[in-house]
Amino acid sequence: MQSPINIDTAKTIFSPQLRPIQLSGYSLPANEKLKLRNNGHTVLLELPESLAITGGYAQQYRAVQLHLHWGSPSGPGSEHTVNGHRFAAEIHVVHYNTKYDSFKEAMVHPDGLAVLGAFLEVGPRENPYYQEILEHLYKIQREGEEVLVPGFNIAGLLPANLKLYFHYNGSLTTPPCYQTVKWTVFNQTMVLSHDQMSMLVMSLRNDDSKPLQNNYRMMQDLHRRRVLSSFQTTLFSVKQLPPGSDSSATTEGQSSSSFHAGDVLAVLFGVLFAITALAFLLYIYKHRSQNARLDSPTKSKVIYTAATTENTA
Ligand SMILES: [Zn+2]
Repeated sequence: MQSPINIDTAKTIFSPQLRPIQLSGYSLPANEKLKLRNNGHTVLLELPESLAITGGYAQQYRAVQLHLHWGSPSGPGSEHTVNGHRFAAEIHVVHYNTKYDSFKEAMVHPDGLAVLGAFLEVGPRENPYYQEILEHLYKIQREGEEVLVPGFNIAGLLPANLKLYFHYNGSLTTPPCYQTVKWTVFNQTMVLSHDQMSMLVMSLRNDDSKPLQNNYRMMQDLHRRRVLSSFQTTLFSVKQLPPGSDSSATTEGQSSSSFHAGDVLAVLFGVLFAITALAFLLYIYKHRSQNARLDSPTKSKVIYTAATTENTA
């Protein structure tokens, strides 16, 4: 049950029971200072306990810290991959179950931890939320250095769409690698500017005073685990868990009922297309015979345009 894993969207199981992730207390005032630290492995932002996941999980989870994983100037460095694709970087927001007294106590229990993960990519715009972290990195270049940063809306570091995500049971990706993490990996990616991604990749040094880069763990075997998705990843091979089945401990081969929503849609579209094509052919045939009967003056009134074919296809 180790992490990270590759998420194969052709094999994820659509689970309608997965509700949108709800966050509370994530918007922090600037006068609340947060500790940002280079721990030699990553940049880590300590979070106050007022931040919590209040929806999407069966239980409530309280935030502890967030950190990032990244690559190098020559390659990407997300921990999870999707269909074999590695993204430029990845954010992890780490939470523990409120039924335990502390992160330390929670981390050894199977339902102890919840980590929200999102992928970072390079795009055309600067991201103002990530800038709240990145602009301080030059002050913590060496391992062990830390700086206080003003509070901001932490939710801005995560996608706007918290409805679409993958969910599976895994582990911490750094020692002690306890297999106690209920993972949420969002489908929507975050965009950073090219300069911002360079700041993330180039700013920090590790315990050997070498550039802190490629701080992602190698992919782990899925074994018999299932990866659930809160949405349908494919139209024609939709697999769905029967209502009420647990997200984790299910075994293989139970979701193979022969007729799925995807099949119904496929047949429906096929029939619709056939009817449209038939009506279209009839129309052309009728129009042609009309033109043949009438004399040339009416021919200039062209009714048929090629756009119709694109509309129906
Ligand atoms: Zn991590």
